[in-house]
Amino acid sequence: MNSHQLFRRSRIRLAFWYAGVMAVILSLSGVSLYRSLIQSNWEAMEREMESIAGTLHDSLEPMLPPSGEATTVLKRILPELCVAGESCNISPTLIERHTIGISDRNTYYIRLFNQQGKLLAFSPSQPLGISRTFHPEPWQTFQSLQGIRYHQFTIILHNHHPSESSSFHHSHPSWGYLQIGRTLEAFDGEVQRMQWILGMGFSIALGLVMISSWWLSGLAMQPIYQSYQQQQQFTANAAHELRSPLASLLATVEAMLRLPPAHQSEIPIMLQTVERQGRRLSHLISDLLLLTSLEQNSSPIPFKPCCLNDIINDLTEEFLELAIGGELHLISHVTDAQIYVLGYESQLYRLVSNLIANAIHYTPIGGQVVLELTRRDRLAVITVKDTGIGIALEEQTRIFERFYRVDSDRSRQTGGTGLGLAIVQAIAQKHQANLSVESQLGYGSIFRVELAISSVINEGEKADILTLL
Ligand code: ADP
Repeated sequence: MNSHQLFRRSRIRLAFWYAGVMAVILSLSGVSLYRSLIQSNWEAMEREMESIAGTLHDSLEPMLPPSGEATTVLKRILPELCVAGESCNISPTLIERHTIGISDRNTYYIRLFNQQGKLLAFSPSQPLGISRTFHPEPWQTFQSLQGIRYHQFTIILHNHHPSESSSFHHSHPSWGYLQIGRTLEAFDGEVQRMQWILGMGFSIALGLVMISSWWLSGLAMQPIYQSYQQQQQFTANAAHELRSPLASLLATVEAMLRLPPAHQSEIPIMLQTVERQGRRLSHLISDLLLLTSLEQNSSPIPFKPCCLNDIINDLTEEFLELAIGGELHLISHVTDAQIYVLGYESQLYRLVSNLIANAIHYTPIGGQVVLELTRRDRLAVITVKDTGIGIALEEQTRIFERFYRVDSDRSRQTGGTGLGLAIVQAIAQKHQANLSVESQLGYGSIFRVELAISSVINEGEKADILTLL
């Protein structure tokens, strides 16, 4: 599987997981919303039924005849109810009268049962095929023959004319039961509407989530893809850089092996070439290892105070010979105060030495390389100036890339690996230093490193450390 397929597969997987998680969250919130809406509607409907039943109960109870069978009395007090066992052609308005605010009188029905559960009277709007048998549960839900659902509430009616026998046990004995029911047609319609809206909303939201997850996973993969490509480029460049000295080294060794005895005197020169290529390889490998270790950022040793004056003075001394060899002037201006920064001394040495080495290598005979250490507020500023070949503006951002060389032939001649400035940048980043370059083609370059000062010891007061941070 090539890297493109791998990244595409990872993107699909990421988008799929993202959409899956979002779908679960959406459906959970949708279901909770749906359930709470249904619940509140249901409770509101039951409250309304209870209130209607209560009103009817309060108005009926005082007028109830002493016996549950007294149909003539019932006919008188409830003229709009059909009496069980008799023909019924009354238009139902009773409920409407008792339940002001209910717009649809066909929504509700009432039924009266005696104490033994025998149906006494009912409103004409009661559902077709409803059972005449009495069930004492307070709340019931059932389906009529036409498939319409009904919800029904049962309340006990008490007798206000206690008989002699019952008065021993109870002040208001049970007379019978009042049942009030209503069709759930509107409620079920509302539930269906809600299901439809939530279903549609969920599908649209899921579609949008899928599109956005595809887009977001693309965004998330982008830096990983770029970094992967950079790594691949780096590996290819490193292999290429290693191949040249290695090929040259092998060719020299082969030539040495085939050398006729008459030319044995050439062996020391050839060995010098082998040594040079070997050194170049070792230099390149140690640079690569250093870069890798700098990027891993896993050093357990803490930063220590490092004296920048010592580093600059030591390096000036070290490079003096090389500068003289190149017929250059190497000048150093170091402030009198001892400037300390927190960091790794060996890495700071490496940072400055790479800059000086470059300045010397890219400055022609008779030129000048100036090293400066100054202090600006809380910053130590190291400047490496040269009057060398300079760097074109468009190259100035690229010179810090690994293996990038402005002029590869010239750079190779100077022994450069193309990693010098990449190492400088990595060390600067590790020390949270600010690294900048100013350069003009043909006139020279200035590399500047700004580091936070940890302490300064002024001349003449060596023991007195002025802590700035
Ligand atoms: P190299 O090992 O090839 O010198 P570097 O990473 O140190 O690699 O530098 C990258 C490129 O930047 C060099 O090839 C060179 O062209 C350019 N460069 C670096 N320093 C200077 C300088 N002081 N003057 C001119 N060019 C420079």
